[in-house]
Amino acid sequence: MAKLEYDEDGRLLFTEEMKEEYTILAPQMAPYHFDYLIYAMRSEGYKAELLTNDDYELIHEGMKYSHNDICVPAMLVIGQFIDAIKKTEHDVHKVALVIAQTGGGCRASNYIQILRKALKKARLEFVPVISVNPSGFEKNPGFEITPRLFHKLHDALLFGDTMMTLTHQIRPYEKEEGATERLKAEIDKEVEAYFQHRFPLTWGKSIRLCMSIIERFKSIGVEKTPRPKVGIVGEIYVKYSPLGNNRLEQTLEKEGVEVVIPPLYDFFLYSFDSRALDIKRYGGPRRERWILKFLVAYIEFWRENIRKKIRKSGFEAPISYKKLRSLSDGFIDVGTHIGEGWLLAAEMVDLIEHGAPNIVCTQPFGCLPNHIVGKGMLKKLKSHYPQSNIVPIDYDTSASKINQLNRITLMITNAFRNFESGRG
Ligand code: SF4
Repeated sequence: MAKLEYDEDGRLLFTEEMKEEYTILAPQMAPYHFDYLIYAMRSEGYKAELLTNDDYELIHEGMKYSHNDICVPAMLVIGQFIDAIKKTEHDVHKVALVIAQTGGGCRASNYIQILRKALKKARLEFVPVISVNPSGFEKNPGFEITPRLFHKLHDALLFGDTMMTLTHQIRPYEKEEGATERLKAEIDKEVEAYFQHRFPLTWGKSIRLCMSIIERFKSIGVEKTPRPKVGIVGEIYVKYSPLGNNRLEQTLEKEGVEVVIPPLYDFFLYSFDSRALDIKRYGGPRRERWILKFLVAYIEFWRENIRKKIRKSGFEAPISYKKLRSLSDGFIDVGTHIGEGWLLAAEMVDLIEHGAPNIVCTQPFGCLPNHIVGKGMLKKLKSHYPQSNIVPIDYDTSASKINQLNRITLMITNAFRNFESGRG
């Protein structure tokens, strides 16, 4: 059994020995992407597992082991971890947890400390927690983002965004019910096999797989009965996580609309770009700024190849990061990047200008930054785009789901009314 080792600050480390023996549990945040991220990690020798527990006990564990003033995403992730450890079939002394740290100014950067505190309270302080972050803090001898793993994670995000974009444009219109889900299951297996490669870089291979995914979506039989489009924006966790937003995507599709969710990769580009902008405005290492700028350009180059193919195949592709950034002009300064910052406002403008004026703006209860850059932008957006039909929804572990549903249904009723009269 691996020996527990601590760094000079008393932080429990994830050691090389643990890499062999321990199962790393990851919270589910974005269903189109996180399976692929896990495949990427497994292919690099980590025993990684994505958590699927999502019942009430989890919320209870989150509330029990974290302060009731903490952000809802933190409470849910902590609850999901503790609930999973208590129910795991693995030896609890052989599990580790992985969590992302944004490194930004928001409380999300501190989730890891809150999680460790919660583990201590639950008498699970022997469980190591691994931080995945772009800033290089909290290093662990048994976990390293090598260039190959980095590139695999990049591929996982490209595949996930492609799958999400195409699924939303096909599933509501499929002639044969379940055809999209069956294709998705097939593609998931291919993506898992793809990650077994040992190359440090795989430019051609990953793009070819994306192209083949697009071609196969094109071959699904559809009946295009026009329907309103509804976008989902908001704080990153409640925007993508079915646990955080009470399965909003499913709810909307059941109501007969086409769902549009902006790509997850935009959030990462926004984070890199925001740091680069901070260095430019307030000073800092110039080398870091150039690396970040190169990274954004590099990722965009590959995304543009995929967007072109999506457009050529008759689908609607997301807009480029540069264009998205420019959409915030006149609404909010690009220096505003606490929480989802200007990205949230720009995504709403993009949706409205590209045929989805109906929007659910998801906010965790008590999330101050996103109330400012989300709800706080609605008046200005409405005066600029009178056809916009935006409903802000607060997500809270103790909030009434019926209340949320009522507000969403009202927005959908307006969406259908506007759509039928040609106004949206
Ligand atoms: S963005 Fe909101 S929910 Fe996320 S850490 Fe910041 S305050 Fe909490």
